[in-house]
Amino acid sequence: MGSLSRNLRAYSFYIFIIFAVGMLFIAVYYIVEALLILQSGESDGALYQLLLGVFGVSVSTYMFLQFRKRMTLLRQALPPTIITIIECEKCGLKSLRNFVKGDFVFKSVDECKKCSEPMLITGIYAEKAKK
Ligand SMILES: [Zn+2]
Repeated sequence: MGSLSRNLRAYSFYIFIIFAVGMLFIAVYYIVEALLILQSGESDGALYQLLLGVFGVSVSTYMFLQFRKRMTLLRQALPPTIITIIECEKCGLKSLRNFVKGDFVFKSVDECKKCSEPMLITGIYAEKAKK
């Protein structure tokens, strides 16, 4: 399921790129052709074609920019780090460590380094990944 949707996403990504590049090429071709027509003196329809070309270039550029923005957003959206807070009930020694599967609040874990009493997990929280 997961790999299928990933393949589908990669597939739509290629379609998108081909579409944007194709559009850019057609738009540039339109502009060049319009400029050639304008140079030869026949301005009928050439201005319209030029506008269409400029519009095409702007749309494809916009698509590229949007796509780049989305890619950077995806790269930034790293999974958060899960932190487990461990506290010693007797002496109050507090320590943080990365969450380990099976951790839950009020579970007693390793012995306290100070007084050798069992320590308790007092909190689990997610820390946003650093940029
Ligand atoms: Zn202690």
